[in-house]
Amino acid sequence: MSRLTGPQCKLCRREGMKLYLKGFRCHTVKCAFERNQYPPGMHHWRRGGPSEYASHLREKQKLKRFFGMNEGQFRRIFSMAEQMKGNTGENLLALTERRLDNAVYLLGWGLSRRDARQLVSHGHICVNGRKLDVPSYMVRKGDVVTLKKSEKTAGRLQVNLEASKDAEVPGWLEVQPEPLEGRVRSLPTADDASLLVEVQLVVELCSR
Ligand code: SF4
Repeated sequence: MSRLTGPQCKLCRREGMKLYLKGFRCHTVKCAFERNQYPPGMHHWRRGGPSEYASHLREKQKLKRFFGMNEGQFRRIFSMAEQMKGNTGENLLALTERRLDNAVYLLGWGLSRRDARQLVSHGHICVNGRKLDVPSYMVRKGDVVTLKKSEKTAGRLQVNLEASKDAEVPGWLEVQPEPLEGRVRSLPTADDASLLVEVQLVVELCSR
């Protein structure tokens, strides 16, 4: 077993998929999931496979862990998805994608979603010129996301931009290098979802 595993890698192994929780390392051969795809624990072989409830729960956990949401945040976003017109599962995927920390990560300013969340919660991110330290804020069409200039963030940002220079920015976002700013061109849809999850199972579980 890899000695490079940490709590984040254990989550990936438990959920049986890469959740990209460790930033740059997730894209290298050091990824613990690539090296060892067994679930954690010594007794991981279970007869009969997971129960129906467990497989529903697993999909929900994947979504929560991928975006770093706690149960309360997840419940709020799920209830918004339910109240919107259209398919609840697709709404849920589109709403999670709109989180500010996710947008900051997709713009290439954070090494991982967790790193991007920290940039937001530590007050380094502005939306439409105003500091916004709420990672769960949902970006809107036309929002302009910028980074507050400080010596502290300059070095960190340089490293992050270098690490993510080959990553493709999704079509619903636009990044301008000089002065550095991100713009929300359109609202993401379920097709833009960063995480492949069986969202219908999540809806069935949460609608019970
Ligand atoms: Fe660890 Fe990232 Fe690989 Fe997940 S994807 S196992 S967090 S290195």
